[in-house]
Amino acid sequence: MALKNQYLIDLLETVKKRNQGEPEFIQAVTEVLETLEPVAEKRQDLIDAGVFERIVEPERQIIFRVPWVDDNGKVQVNRGFRVQFNSAIGPYKGGLRLHPSVYLGIIKFLGFEQVFKNSLTTLPMGGGKGGSDFDPKGKSDGEVMRFCQSFMTELCKHIGADTDVPAGDIGTGAREIGFMFGQYKRLRNEFTGVLTGKGLTYGGSLTRTEATGYGLCYFTNEMLQANGKSFEGQTVVISGSGNVAIYATEKATQYGAKVVALSDSNGYIHDPDGIELDIVKQIKEVERGRIKEYCDRTSHKNATYTEGCKGIWTIKCDIALPCATQNEIDGESAAILVKNGTYCVSEGANMPSTPEAIETYLSNGVLYGPAKAANAGGVATSGLEMSQNSERLSWTFEEVDAKLHGIMKEIFKSCDEAAKEYGMAGNYMAGANIAGFLKVAEAMKAQGCV
Ligand code: NDP
Repeated sequence: MALKNQYLIDLLETVKKRNQGEPEFIQAVTEVLETLEPVAEKRQDLIDAGVFERIVEPERQIIFRVPWVDDNGKVQVNRGFRVQFNSAIGPYKGGLRLHPSVYLGIIKFLGFEQVFKNSLTTLPMGGGKGGSDFDPKGKSDGEVMRFCQSFMTELCKHIGADTDVPAGDIGTGAREIGFMFGQYKRLRNEFTGVLTGKGLTYGGSLTRTEATGYGLCYFTNEMLQANGKSFEGQTVVISGSGNVAIYATEKATQYGAKVVALSDSNGYIHDPDGIELDIVKQIKEVERGRIKEYCDRTSHKNATYTEGCKGIWTIKCDIALPCATQNEIDGESAAILVKNGTYCVSEGANMPSTPEAIETYLSNGVLYGPAKAANAGGVATSGLEMSQNSERLSWTFEEVDAKLHGIMKEIFKSCDEAAKEYGMAGNYMAGANIAGFLKVAEAMKAQGCV
């Protein structure tokens, strides 16, 4: 979809010039501006208020050194980031990614997406994202703790329960959040809800662990039902085997689907009889092992392991849920999915489909649940964790799960309605971008040129 509106064409040119060497960020901005074209045509007031120019520029970008000492006594240096993208509708909120591929462009793309996603949740949260090129894989608990403490020693100057509330993301799970929270508390001498995804004994929320994967399935279920379909009896392929993938598998299975594949960054497993999730949880959540170990432990004789990630999209399925990382489905893989009869792709990971893949879904009538909407259940439940921390109360699993379910239904409804209102019925990506944008845009306009 090429832009036709001259104002947006010029703006995108500026974004490209100003953010050279950051292809993921430019990709994310391009997708959003393309779908906002009908809004720009209709809302001259937002153009006059400079909302479009301001929303593509982060409010603040912080980059810092993270020195720590490894188990051999050697000094290691990583780079830390926090991009505070937009605070028009609430304190900055978004996860911390710990992965060797992290650099400013990745954090900016994630922060930008987060602005729209958080707006869609109906909760008062602005958008931000952070992380580091530190790789927790293969590190001892002591090394991870020393890294997290050093990381928080700088980050604590920039965050706070009413300013910026980080959470987990790739590589940042309960262990890392615990170490970071402990260091924040020690340095600031305050016990506040400054991070979400906390352990249940110190302010965490029930259902937060499950939230992104469950939320993805709640959203996908709404989308399927609106189009006369359901999870019942369907074959599902899910990439990744981390937090999002595991709980998407759990909920899709509860909905009556059969999940037949999962992966990690080394390769994928295919179990035509249906993945035994308890084995995956033990390998990934307890032992921090590799997905290939599944085949040695399952009683299912037909389970196989294949090296490499991309092949997972050649497995025949009705529904695909990418839950690993950005740009994991390219045009070629999308074409194979379509050829194999996949009629629904819904995104647990952030921006897992390349622009060519999205084009392939849309031109072939594939039901497409975009990440911003489909994976918003994680941050929504983080918002609920913040509410519980403010109240100094804990809600039951059922209460939080019911609220999450309600939020995901609302998100689907607003995407569906916005797409219809702007003449793009069934294009939930356009609907998500427009609905997410409008709320933030109205707030930015009301608050003046800041
Ligand atoms: P985890 O670290 O728990 O799991 C990530 C999974 O994806 C692992 O199986 C990992 O394999 C795999 N993976 C990571 N990077 C790559 C890569 N470059 N190539 C192939 N596989 C890769 O992360 P989450 O489950 O939390 O996050 C997954 C996705 O969901 C991310 O895009 C994240 O931004 C998004 N997301 C997460 C939310 C949350 O609440 N956790 C909320 C919203 C979105 P390996 O173990 O080998 O690294």
